[in-house]
Amino acid sequence: MNRAGTESESEFHFELRTCRWAEREWPLDSSDAAILVARQLGTKRRRWDTIVLECDPDALRHRAKFGEKRLDGDLLHVVRNAPEEWTYYRDCLPDPGYPWRYVRESIHEADDRGVLETRRNGNRIEIRRKWPYREWVRRIVAIENKPDLDASAARALRPQLEYDVAMALADEVWVATRKTGERIEPALLERLPVEAGILTLDPDSLESEVAWYPRRLDVDGPGTRILERPAGGPRDASPAQFEYVDPEVKARKRLEIAERAYERGWRSFADTMRPDCRHFELRSAGQFLPWCAAKGCCQTAAECSSRCSHVEPEPPAWRTRGWPIEGGPGKRSKTLLEERRRRRRPGL
Ligand code: SF4
Repeated sequence: MNRAGTESESEFHFELRTCRWAEREWPLDSSDAAILVARQLGTKRRRWDTIVLECDPDALRHRAKFGEKRLDGDLLHVVRNAPEEWTYYRDCLPDPGYPWRYVRESIHEADDRGVLETRRNGNRIEIRRKWPYREWVRRIVAIENKPDLDASAARALRPQLEYDVAMALADEVWVATRKTGERIEPALLERLPVEAGILTLDPDSLESEVAWYPRRLDVDGPGTRILERPAGGPRDASPAQFEYVDPEVKARKRLEIAERAYERGWRSFADTMRPDCRHFELRSAGQFLPWCAAKGCCQTAAECSSRCSHVEPEPPAWRTRGWPIEGGPGKRSKTLLEERRRRRRPGL
C-alpha cells in the first residue's frame, strides 16, 4: 500500500478529512445555513466524532459579540435571562436550582468578560444585558467516522447509534465511511439503525455520496436514555434499563454542546498534540494536517504526546532566531490553525 493509502488508514486522519469535507459541502440541501464544525464533543456518556452545527447566519455573527470563548451553563443562565433595564439579579433571573452565590460568581465572570453590565445599588447587585443572546443554532448533526466499517466495527457502533436515536439530542445522526466504489456499499449491508444516515467518503479526493438518508430525530420531545442492556443470549430475559430525559434538559445540553463547538472548532487538534516537537509539521494539501517527520506519517493525537519515544523538543535556537517566524515552528503551527478557526466564526 502506498503512503497516501497508509495515511488514510488512520481514523484520526479520516476524521479530520470528514471535518474538512463537512465544512466545504454542508448543508446537503439548499438552505442558507452557516456551518460550524467541531470534533470530539458531546455529553458525559456519549462523545461524537464530528459535529456539524447549522446556524442562522445573522445570529452566528451576533454570537461573536460574546467572545470566542464558550459560555458555560452557568453563564448562559445569566446572559440569556439578563434584562434590558437595570434590575436586582434575583428579581430577573429564574431560580437556578443551586445556591445563589454561584450565580453571583457567574455574574462577576460575565462582567469580567465584558458580556454583561453590573452595578451596585446599596448592597444589591443589579444587572443589565449588553445584547440579547440570540438562538444561533438551528440544527445539530452528529457524524461517527468509521473508515473501515466491517461487521465487527458495525457491531461496536450499533449500540452507540441506538443510544443517539433514542436520546435524540442531535437532529440527525450519520456514519461516515470510506467509499469503496462497489455497486452496493458494504456499509449498507451492516446492521445499523435505519434512522442513521450513511455517507461514503473518499478521504483523499473528498468525493462523497449519500448511501442512506437519515431520519430526522425528535429533538423537541423527551429523550430516552438507555442505561443498561441485557447481555443477550437465550437465557437472558432481563429488560433494558432506561430513563426519560426532559425536553428542557435536552435543549440546555444542545446549547452547551454548541457553545463548546463554537470555542473549539475542529482545528484545535494541535492543542492536545506536541507541535513543539522538532518532528511536528503541518502539511497542506487542501487543509492543514499534522505530520510526523520522524515516523513519516500523519500521527494521531494519542501518539503525539510526551510519552512518544521519538519526541524531541524543538531546539531553543529555532525560537531565538525567530525561524521561520517569530516563536518557532510549533507556535507558528498553532497560530496558523487558530487563524483558520477564527475565519469560520464571522464577526470575531
Ligand atoms: S516524534 Fe512523536 S511527539 Fe514528535 S511529532 Fe512525531 S509523534 Fe509527535
